[in-house]
Amino acid sequence: MDSYKDMEAIFASDKRIFFLQVLFVFLLISSFSNILIAQNNKTFTVGSIEAKSGEKVSDSLIVEKGFDEGTFIPITIINGAKSGPVLTLVAGVHGTEYVPIISLQQLLNEINPNELSGTIIMVHIANIPSFSGRAVYSSPIDNKNLNRCFPGKNKGTISERIAYTITNEIIKKSDYYIDLHGGEFNEAIVDFIYFQVGCPEIHICEQ
Ligand SMILES: [Zn+2]
Repeated sequence: MDSYKDMEAIFASDKRIFFLQVLFVFLLISSFSNILIAQNNKTFTVGSIEAKSGEKVSDSLIVEKGFDEGTFIPITIINGAKSGPVLTLVAGVHGTEYVPIISLQQLLNEINPNELSGTIIMVHIANIPSFSGRAVYSSPIDNKNLNRCFPGKNKGTISERIAYTITNEIIKKSDYYIDLHGGEFNEAIVDFIYFQVGCPEIHICEQ
């Protein structure tokens, strides 16, 4: 009987060890899969431009030719290794506002996608026709102010199609959107920020 009890005790002890082993393996798999999930940010796509998890990709978003000429929008997608919100930073809606354009180029080199949770889309120059033509306020092609064209028109003029492309390919995929401006050739402006009244993340907007 004693030996049976001993055997039972040994068996119970074996069961405890087995249970602990199973628990250990479960915890190991669980923490490993958590690491995998945390690192497994989805591939992010803007137009035909793709950035896999942990990648920084720069390319041109194409605005197709309409009844006037087409153009391109140079962008960078910094897709973090970990999942998170999508922030878009836009420069060059007005083509002679160079400070935001240069700022994004500098910022681009300072962000490591492997240390990033979420995704950053940088629009380096939204308005290439205005930038190339050194045109203040309005596009030299359709004489429209891109800043007044949103959400844009698919079949509109070049500025309206740029706005349509940014709205549909970028704004709709963004959780946060910051449109950066500066003084044009003929302007000297003070620093200011404005945001939409009723912003759901008011504490962020107030910053
Ligand atoms: Zn501006």
